[in-house]
Amino acid sequence: MADHKVIILGTGPAGLTAAIYAARANLKPFVVEGNEPGGQLTLTSEVENFPGFADPILGPDLMENMRKQAERFGAIFQDGWATSVDFSARPFKITVNEDETLTADAVIISTGASAKLLGIPGETEMIGHGVSTCATCDGFFFTNKRIIVVGGGDSAMEEASFLTKFASMVTIVHRRDTLRASKVMQDRARNNPKIQWVMNATPIAVKSANHQVQGLEVRDNVTGETRLIEAEGIFVSIGHQPNTSFLNGQVAVDKVGYIITNHKSGATNVEGVFCCGDVMDSRYRQAVTAAGSGCRAAMDVEKYLEGAFVHDWSMSIT
Ligand code: NAP
Repeated sequence: MADHKVIILGTGPAGLTAAIYAARANLKPFVVEGNEPGGQLTLTSEVENFPGFADPILGPDLMENMRKQAERFGAIFQDGWATSVDFSARPFKITVNEDETLTADAVIISTGASAKLLGIPGETEMIGHGVSTCATCDGFFFTNKRIIVVGGGDSAMEEASFLTKFASMVTIVHRRDTLRASKVMQDRARNNPKIQWVMNATPIAVKSANHQVQGLEVRDNVTGETRLIEAEGIFVSIGHQPNTSFLNGQVAVDKVGYIITNHKSGATNVEGVFCCGDVMDSRYRQAVTAAGSGCRAAMDVEKYLEGAFVHDWSMSIT
């Protein structure tokens, strides 16, 4: 017999919503917090686009509320993170912190994706204070301010275009002289009069004073000269990495590492293993879409445990 009916991995909006729904269905979900408890929203300041809050709520407070809500209905939390899984037999086995093995009849993977960071001096300490990885979340705070977007892919083009709605000027900084972004996205950005370009430049430091970002120091890859591009906001848009390496190939993922699901549910290719949130979604990546998919995953688990879930992975999408 398994230790738990359902184990949920991760405590971002997806995992916590799954925990609320599973707990209210009397499944007593066991939730492994993950290595970033609360998920990416704990890295942001005010959240203004999560429905239900007429006034802004701080990201960490929103996540704390979701957690308390899940606990109120009987969800049990354990700190630590899943380091490996064995989905080859039932019950499923999950190893936490490399030393404790838990078993479950069903699993919900909501381990999210982590925004990649540049890894340069000054960056981490200014996250939430001028450095952001989410234009949709934080763009509004830079109304009439100068913004830098780092990256040359579709996300950087999309975020730069979006940010021109707020910023006085957006500067895209890219490390090569050609962009990775698709032509249509490039053209949209190039035709935007509020976007200027600094190509062939490697970011080397985020500069700040009195807890305010002053700009990005870059090195010109041709001349080797360094200079400061002044701005109040810096959006790092160099891609995300889904947190799926611990699955070690036991669940089907796409070439980047996102879990492959079908159109209708968060079912993975392994019957009884479901997923939700950014770990399966490279496109929308919003707290509210993650929460919605967490609700779906928990409802599917409930059906699965009743023997009433139809596992149809044939419509899988990547
Ligand atoms: P991406 O395509 O991997 O692009 C990442 C960009 O960041 C690249 O230009 C890369 O430079 C740069 N970069 C990576 N590490 C860096 C570092 N350490 N320092 C400086 N620059 C660095 O990621 P993405 O733009 O997030 O897109 C991910 C996927 O989602 C893509 O398949 C994309 O097409 C898709 N997407 C689609 C849409 C849309 O269609 N609406 C919108 C967003 C994303 P290099 O080019 O030199 O490698």
